Amino acid sequence: MSRNYDLIALGGGSGGLAVAEQAAQLGKRVAVIEANRLGGTCVNQGCVPKKVMWYAAHLAEAARDGAAFGVRADVQGFDWSALVAGRDRYVANINDYWDGYASQQGIERIAGLGRLVDANTVEVAGTRYSADHIVIATGGRPLVPRLPGAELGIDSDGFFALKQQPRRVAVIGGGYIGVELAGVLRALGSKVTLVALEQRLLWAFDPMIGETLAENLGEAGVRLHLGFEVAALERHEDGIRLRPKAGKPLCGFDTVIWAVGRVANTSGLGLDAAGVAMNPNGTIATDDLQQTNVAGIYAIGDVTGREPLTPVAIAAGRRLARRLFGGEVGLTLDYRDVPTVVFAHPPVARVGLTEPEAQARYGDDLTVYETRFRPMRYALNDRGPTTAMKLVCAGPQERVVGIHLIGDGVDEMLQGFAVALKMGATKADLDATVAIHPTASEELVTLRDPVRRPASQGVRRGEREVAAA
Ligand SMILES: Cc1cc2nc3c(=O)[nH]c(=O)nc-3n(C[C@H](O)[C@H](O)[C@H](O)COP(=O)(O)OP(=O)(O)OC[C@H]3O[C@@H](n4cnc5c(N)ncnc54)[C@H](O)[C@@H]3O)c2cc1C
Repeated sequence: MSRNYDLIALGGGSGGLAVAEQAAQLGKRVAVIEANRLGGTCVNQGCVPKKVMWYAAHLAEAARDGAAFGVRADVQGFDWSALVAGRDRYVANINDYWDGYASQQGIERIAGLGRLVDANTVEVAGTRYSADHIVIATGGRPLVPRLPGAELGIDSDGFFALKQQPRRVAVIGGGYIGVELAGVLRALGSKVTLVALEQRLLWAFDPMIGETLAENLGEAGVRLHLGFEVAALERHEDGIRLRPKAGKPLCGFDTVIWAVGRVANTSGLGLDAAGVAMNPNGTIATDDLQQTNVAGIYAIGDVTGREPLTPVAIAAGRRLARRLFGGEVGLTLDYRDVPTVVFAHPPVARVGLTEPEAQARYGDDLTVYETRFRPMRYALNDRGPTTAMKLVCAGPQERVVGIHLIGDGVDEMLQGFAVALKMGATKADLDATVAIHPTASEELVTLRDPVRRPASQGVRRGEREVAAA
């Protein structure tokens, strides 16, 4: 049987649901093809279950630190299965919500794996469906490298399926997923080793972030091995062993987690049949209007490899539908200055350019402000993670082009500052804002002495200290 829709979303995750919802609200006939539960990676194996576990870790840390503040809590250990059961119930509620909401909006749900037949037709389990517009929103999946013994490890999906808390864990990967999983497991009491190929964690972030994060993880008891290239996993009597390309192996793990990146879900999609072009890295090539090289076929979200974050997939989907059906010709998503948070312990937040990126764009015409401190949250504890903040400002007006934060509360702090950056705020605008006291965020509006000034002012990073000495 053949049916006709105005729009078919291939994939019912963040992007697919967003474009379908917006198109349906604009009165269009819409279908979503989804192989699994509605909600996609974010709801089922990403942001949502991850953040629930981050809260658990946060509470465990607070319980540990409480005694110094006179909170005499009787903590009787940690129940992994209770956490997992609660988390899964919460996720199932979101799945149910989407099932109900989608049908309420008049979105037709087609269950199964979709495959493009041509530019206007998708096939699911032998039935063909046609549409004027097809949006590929099939997301991505974890990458597990082809190395000897790789199957001894699990990936982030496997992490969320764990029924018992792993005791001795190796997390392979210094990107945001590796850092987040390592932090959660450590805070909940696992022995954690984090290995990364690069010499710095979160290598795509400002260098200050990776360095401070490594200190904080070390202080929390995570064993770090940077510049460690895994060649193989091996099973031995004492557990799984990580054999490096060079140097000594790391031994004795009951669980190894691969967190070395994600790949776009494009295999079996019929891209060849429809003539859709891909980028060399396996993502789908799109222009600023989410258009692929084939008229009527679009791609949004992780499958495009552009800023793989939930709000980006949602924003791209909504704009696409408004452009196609709402008469908002030329409406695009600005991929610049997308704020992002890494739910480490404590979290990391970033918007705009890192100092090296700003240097590449603006040369030496940069002013950089930094601060590091131990926040009041730990005032009565013997130890506590460092908070660090950096403002990168460009030109004589000192326009704020990068904000980089690590510390308690920065996950909630960044959103408002990201609005300011997007609006073109200058350092003087931040200075003109009265601080909120006592908070950590007040530091961002009270920064005084730059650690780096433009070359035109005769002082560059580090020279001030040399001159002072
Ligand atoms: C561990 C982890 C933590 C994360 N944390 C965050 C976070 O804190 N904040 C944030 O913003 N982002 C986070 N992300 C990223 C976020 O989950 C993704 O950016 C987002 O889900 C992308 O949405 P999407 O619509 O492109 O793809 P997805 O949400 O992955 O949806 C794609 C859907 O397509 C379906 N599908 C695939 N192929 C087919 C087919 N052939 N036919 C039918 N259906 C198909 C899949 O089953 C899936 O449901 C995290 C990701 C992971 C893995």
